Amino acid sequence: MHEIPDAALAALQDRFGDQLLLDAESRDGRTPTPTWLPRQPPAAVVVVRDVADVQDAVRLCAPHRIPIVPFGGGTSLEGQVNAPLGGVSLDLSRMNRVLDVSVRDQLAVVEPGVKYTALNARLREQGLFFPVDPGAAATLGGMASTRASGTNALRYGTMRENVVSLEVVLADGRRIRTGCRARKSSTGYDLTRLFVGAEGTLGILTEIVVKLYPRPTGFAGGYCSFPDVATAVGMVADALALGLLPGKIEFLDEVAVEACNAYSGLNLDVGPTLFVEFHGSHVPPEAEAFRNLAEARGAACGWTTDAQALEDLWTARHDAWWAIHAHFEGLRGVTTDTCVPISRLAHCVAEARGALAEMRLRGAIVGHVGDGNFHVLLMLDLADEDEVTRAKCFVARMSALAIEQGGSCSGEHGVGQGKRDAVREEHGEALDVMRLIKHALDPMGSMNPGKLF
Ligand SMILES: Cc1cc2nc3c(=O)[nH]c(=O)nc-3n(C[C@H](O)[C@H](O)[C@H](O)COP(=O)(O)OP(=O)(O)OC[C@H]3O[C@@H](n4cnc5c(N)ncnc54)[C@H](O)[C@@H]3O)c2cc1C
Repeated sequence: MHEIPDAALAALQDRFGDQLLLDAESRDGRTPTPTWLPRQPPAAVVVVRDVADVQDAVRLCAPHRIPIVPFGGGTSLEGQVNAPLGGVSLDLSRMNRVLDVSVRDQLAVVEPGVKYTALNARLREQGLFFPVDPGAAATLGGMASTRASGTNALRYGTMRENVVSLEVVLADGRRIRTGCRARKSSTGYDLTRLFVGAEGTLGILTEIVVKLYPRPTGFAGGYCSFPDVATAVGMVADALALGLLPGKIEFLDEVAVEACNAYSGLNLDVGPTLFVEFHGSHVPPEAEAFRNLAEARGAACGWTTDAQALEDLWTARHDAWWAIHAHFEGLRGVTTDTCVPISRLAHCVAEARGALAEMRLRGAIVGHVGDGNFHVLLMLDLADEDEVTRAKCFVARMSALAIEQGGSCSGEHGVGQGKRDAVREEHGEALDVMRLIKHALDPMGSMNPGKLF
């Protein structure tokens, strides 16, 4: 545990005054691990307001090798904001200004603490939107750093595709830009992609340029409830192969549907279900083709062209985490995050269901299935050691399955502390190359230590 030496603490106090927080509540508040990983609070919190604050905090900590853990919204799921070696949690949530919106370039320049919901509220009047929508109150800095995605990723991509360039403060306090605002550039290494998904281990993002899109005005979609899981999940690959590209498509198993019905006041048929939405500037004709395909496979479909009715469905999907928690009252959720090639999805979901039953675990399956990404949300009694042990085996088994099928142990949540073993399996010697990059950019290892490697 790295306590802060007196000289460094005095210098931080001098520079940051009441932006430096040392009380237990503030320190605990920066490590809200909504998972089974224990909370590991930092020794101090520095609440930064601008890039000069970030540079000064880094420069004051560097000579003492004080660990720095960037903090955005604290919603990450793999212990990414824990401070296992103590040090400083750098809270970027107050750097929350939208600096520029260019309608003609379809770009926004934001500070890292801007929440994607706040950006979208700001863009509404301009007829634009930002598509990456993880189901929690996440910031653009945290989302870029975990390479987050959401319900729109199939059509619009993840943070990987939607970050245009970055401003980054490096471990020695230098400030760099990783690119320009042009649509393309073929100059040099792609540093933007290097920092996207780095989980704060290479530097601190202080400005982010993101892509925007015209707000759709024509909608059609709804839900399709299938007789069995294999048909529901298999339908996704079939539809994509026919060129039917939805704006959003999500899978919920029967437990998740039952939970959403109760929590969000829906009245859906309880069965393996796809939520789907096509959108564009007019009501999209592909929606009917999708519905016909689903009905030919025995699905019961509830269909609408009403944007608000669809919005309600997506709100229920975003609330599924809380709905499933309410369904299994008193238990704690721990989620897997496997992502596999779409051709292997039906097989992997079937394996997951088999393993759940075999290992006597409770939970529900939801997924951004258009990307081959699904979550088994295990619901655990954390006081039951045997159940927790079985759950750990289940998570490892799902990671191994995904990797064996040519996929990834994490489609969107990242590595943090929770997936460090699996990531070695996934990347092999490539992980050593990542380590070399880490050492080149952060030779003292003070940027978010204990994560990723
Ligand atoms: C209910 C629920 C649903 C979720 N659904 C989804 C989902 O659908 N898709 C998805 O992708 N994720 C999902 N998540 C996970 C989470 O929302 C994402 O990981 C999100 O990207 C984290 O953003 P944050 O602002 O909370 O980041 P934090 O948790 O604060 O930080 C995440 C990581 O980024 C680093 N970091 C933060 N800001 C910066 C910065 N400015 N510079 C450098 N590093 C930084 C941190 O050190 C940490 O390593 C969900 C979480 C919950 C609780």
